[in-house]
Amino acid sequence: MDIRTLEEMPISERKAYALKKVKGLQDKLNASITIIEDDEVKADGKLMGIPVALKDNISTKGIKTTAASDILDNYVPVYDATIVKKLKEAGAIFVSKTSMDELAMGGTNRTANIGPCHNPYDLDRITGGSSGGSAALVAAGAVPLAIGSDTGDSVRKPAAYCGIVGVKPSYGRISRYGIIPYASSLDHVGYFTTNVEDAALALEVLAGRDDLDMTSSYEEVLEYSKLLDANVKGRRLAIFGNVYDAISDSSIKEAFDKIIVSLEDKGAIIKKVYFDGDLMKCLFPTYFIIANAEATANHSNLDGVRFGHRIDGDSMEDVMMATRTRGFSSFIKKRFVIGSYSLFEENQERLLKKAQRVRRLIVEAVLNELKEVDALLAPASGSIAPRLDDPSSDELSDEYLIAENHMVIGNFGGLPSMTLPMGFKDDLPIGINITCNAFKEEEMFDIALAIEDITGLKGHVKEVL
Ligand code: GLN
Repeated sequence: MDIRTLEEMPISERKAYALKKVKGLQDKLNASITIIEDDEVKADGKLMGIPVALKDNISTKGIKTTAASDILDNYVPVYDATIVKKLKEAGAIFVSKTSMDELAMGGTNRTANIGPCHNPYDLDRITGGSSGGSAALVAAGAVPLAIGSDTGDSVRKPAAYCGIVGVKPSYGRISRYGIIPYASSLDHVGYFTTNVEDAALALEVLAGRDDLDMTSSYEEVLEYSKLLDANVKGRRLAIFGNVYDAISDSSIKEAFDKIIVSLEDKGAIIKKVYFDGDLMKCLFPTYFIIANAEATANHSNLDGVRFGHRIDGDSMEDVMMATRTRGFSSFIKKRFVIGSYSLFEENQERLLKKAQRVRRLIVEAVLNELKEVDALLAPASGSIAPRLDDPSSDELSDEYLIAENHMVIGNFGGLPSMTLPMGFKDDLPIGINITCNAFKEEEMFDIALAIEDITGLKGHVKEVL
């Protein structure tokens, strides 16, 4: 389902169409935490009557917002996130608050408190996370646009596993006001569509300066969808050599190679680049230390006192202890232990501050290369979506450390980065990732459009029977 096709349907029918799909899919995909039945078009804009799904960490006034965590299972915000306001002003209607890994801390969407989300291509496989519910609804053709958040790759990885377009723009491009935070220096709003043109249009609606978010940028918002140009003649593109080499699946490399050859045929200038191997092995540990430390601090307000689920006790301390003990899954608590450990004063220098310095080195190396080229290209993942019962991987292999975690570079540097379909392996989708210089979303969309022309996968969705 794409925005243009939906526009051919009378406005009054669009919501009913999406709602029927969202409801019909719930048994199979478990993609929604709350289904929104009674939303209405409030304005006439670029998304007039277009049904949109929102990840459940996005505050919606009067509509439950749980972040898939027991600790927030009764939380009803009293205000809308800025992007919710913007979508309303554009005429969008909301049909679902979607499933996600608890508090966005995960990459599988197996850790939602409502149970795992299922991949439309194979119900026994994960969608990827943490924005898995949003990805599943777009991939299954229920909505043409769904919003997610991306702290490490939480939009771009599920986009790859579900065969759709997933965009994480530059840091500051989309306001984060009203998004339940995870790690503030890495958090971005991102979103899913079924094609590049819709992705460009969505950014026009979502982006822009917001005084309520101090990290929001003043950079001008362009009419991205009108500027699209698939001509890559003379474009300088770099293959991310470390990622390519770390992938063992030859069919994923072949699909990637085919696209590269076609881009070269269209006049792109291709080279392969390598970054320091030791730095690349640090991507995941660096991310994990910074993300968990920031999360531990950000989530200290989830204590049962101010809002959310409360378990009573004799003292304030008892309330907090009981609420936090029962409110978070063990997966989250493990991360808080790791976060707290690197926040201890005696550990800060050798853990958190070191990780911040390594982050800087990684970003400098990448920016240095991006002076020479317009974009860095790599397979988004070295595999198809793992099975729900077998998410295990060797966490010390290059395949995991580099190929499965390279997209975090976009979060480290605040760089625009997107994934789009590059083909299939065993009838399951695989994705390609593009990362560009900050605020060069326009260039990123052009390169993506050229790739979409090559793959012919524009608007592809999977009918779930
Ligand atoms: N998989 C990463 C994590 O578990 C990324 C999550 C995200 O981007 N929100 O932290």
